[in-house]
Amino acid sequence: MKENQAKGLACQIMDLSEQAMIVIRKNDYSVVYANAKARAIFGEDIASITCYRMVEGEDTPCKACPFQMNEMNAEQIVERYLRSFDQTVQIKVTPLVWEDGEDTLVYTILDSDELLLAKMNLEARAQSYEEQLRLSGELYQTVVSQLRTMVFEYNVEQNTFYISPLFQEKFGITEIHNVDFLLDEQAKNLIYEPDQDIYQMLFADREDDFREVTCRLRMKNGQLVWYRICIQYIRNDEGKTVRVIGTLKDVDEATRSYETLRYRSEYDTLTNIPNVNRFYVDAGRMIEEDETRHFAIISFDIDKFKLINDLFGMNTGDEVLKHIADVLRMKAPESSMYCRVHSDMFLLCVSYNRRGDLIRLVEKLRKAIYKNEFSFDVNTTYGIYLVTDITIPINLMCDRATLAARTVKGNAMNFCAFYDEQYRTEILKNTEIEQDMNAAISGKQFLMYLQPKYNLVTGKICGAEVLSRWKHPVKGLIQPNDFIPLFERNGFILRLDEYMWEEACRTLARWRDEGRDPVPLSVNISRYHIQHNDLVGAWKHLIKKYNIPTSYLTLEITETFFYDSKDLYDVLEQLQAMGFRLEVDDFGAGYSSLNMIRQIPVDTIKIDKDFLDKKLATDKGKIVISHTIAMAKDLKLDVVAEGVETKEHVDFLKSSSCDIAQGFFFAKPMPVDEFEKIYFEEDI
Ligand code: C2E
Ligand code: MG
Ligand code: MG
Repeated sequence: MKENQAKGLACQIMDLSEQAMIVIRKNDYSVVYANAKARAIFGEDIASITCYRMVEGEDTPCKACPFQMNEMNAEQIVERYLRSFDQTVQIKVTPLVWEDGEDTLVYTILDSDELLLAKMNLEARAQSYEEQLRLSGELYQTVVSQLRTMVFEYNVEQNTFYISPLFQEKFGITEIHNVDFLLDEQAKNLIYEPDQDIYQMLFADREDDFREVTCRLRMKNGQLVWYRICIQYIRNDEGKTVRVIGTLKDVDEATRSYETLRYRSEYDTLTNIPNVNRFYVDAGRMIEEDETRHFAIISFDIDKFKLINDLFGMNTGDEVLKHIADVLRMKAPESSMYCRVHSDMFLLCVSYNRRGDLIRLVEKLRKAIYKNEFSFDVNTTYGIYLVTDITIPINLMCDRATLAARTVKGNAMNFCAFYDEQYRTEILKNTEIEQDMNAAISGKQFLMYLQPKYNLVTGKICGAEVLSRWKHPVKGLIQPNDFIPLFERNGFILRLDEYMWEEACRTLARWRDEGRDPVPLSVNISRYHIQHNDLVGAWKHLIKKYNIPTSYLTLEITETFFYDSKDLYDVLEQLQAMGFRLEVDDFGAGYSSLNMIRQIPVDTIKIDKDFLDKKLATDKGKIVISHTIAMAKDLKLDVVAEGVETKEHVDFLKSSSCDIAQGFFFAKPMPVDEFEKIYFEEDI
């Protein structure tokens, strides 16, 4: 009873499979069981037949039986050429102890549908024409019911049609009546409109008897599904078509994943315009292929895009980008190429006759982008590179256009610049720096300078900022402004910062070991770390390595941090919990407000030197600064002023209750040994 149940269950499970499955006894190759699909392919009669008889119609085991049955102990997939089908199939072979205790192997023929169709076609072709007609009816009823692939047949001479039941299930079609059914309205309505052209290729005037296309069909429930449609025309001896056999195979999953991958690799998913990879290929080809025309690359971005994101939210920022994509779709010249590179940066490649054409185009784009429904201004800045040497790589041409755009920034009267050879000097300079930077770390060419911070009440040093200097073997001492912005672009800032932080920790540990009372040091943290580095992990490691308290260290982060980092809050909170003091550097230089800072875990704001400089010049400006200081104090934040250069600055800051000042009035950044002299001697 138990055995019967077990057998029944195994067989039932096999019958549910859409693949052909055969169970073969290991010692004598006899077929123990074949599921319905296998019987449809290999024939109904399985009793006491051997696998070689069943599959190949042979009387003895196949020569060099590829299954090596004695060694088959684990599941594996083998390839097997089936001579009688003239087809190679993949077979999964699984060892199984049958209920009578005998060792068996279960053969699962992967993609059995292909085999079944091969069989149908073979049989149809093998028969005489009359025989085909007789057979077709029976064959399809039995065989087709086993297929997940849909089949239809049109018998030309008899003018009869057959369609498999799946047509009703999927498309609601129960019968076809018309010789031209593939071209009639019913069939056409099934094809997704944009794929009609592909579908028509099935009927293109061609010699071959077999045709296939892959297109999207509309299901009964409205869903669009990718199908591979194959049509086989069977002709009689005179070459006249006597039957048309077609199959429709669901290839949705495979096609979709391929399409999505391709789309993702070539299009920007937010704006649905090409991405930079696609642009490089298309624009590069366009420039290369037509030497008779002049081409230009235009690069542009949005002024203060970060501010838009910051004040109106990322979703609004996204809408602005989509608006720009729409403008490009409508206004870019017909033969041009365009793309979104990243963030708010876009590129165009256009042909032109005169420079004036380009300026007019830029004005047209700028106006169309400006004209929108947003409650704020969307201004754009453009850089143009005229292609003179087509052997220059396309990405370099684009970099040059972008470089030109950068020279416009900050100049309110202008919104467009042409690339000038002088920028190349800058690029070359940067390339030189990039070539030297790795050696500079290992050669200890980066020096730690310290600039003291003064307590305005006591007049004493209460901290120092760590600032880097590059002692280049040929170029001499290089200031941070000449390398930090470049390092922030190429990512090298991660290594430099970690090097400087380690120098700071080493110095603090040394002071402590020498019995001196360490002065807290502030280090700069580039915003690159938040996106690309494990900031918390790096600091845990340093603190442990040098065994120094976190209270010795202040971490300076620039306010531009606050625009674009979702992870920022978490990271800052963890650092604060570890005991570091957090200071907002360059406050007032960008767009952050105290309101924004209230939501971020920080302890101190450091007022930017330009802010101090500009505001102190007018009475109104003075009020803004003193109110900023007062409000920061209300929020329990300490205030540091940097760029304090004059006595007047100091007096004003004192009267506004600013706590700490840093600037040339007190001291410039200096080498560590000099700092030690003024700090530790001052202490004595
Ligand atoms: P920062 O962090 O705002 O540093 C203050 C800058 O102001 C320093 O410029 C300092 O020399 C300068 N400064 C100080 N007092 C005065 C003054 O009274 N008047 C004027 N006009 N300037 C003053 P420095 O050393 O050239 O550094 C420039 C910027 O480079 C720094 O600005 C900081 O953002 C960045 N930086 C420097 N070293 C590093 C580093 O190791 N890592 C990172 N991530 N950034 C660094
Ligand atoms: Mg700083
Ligand atoms: Mg600063």
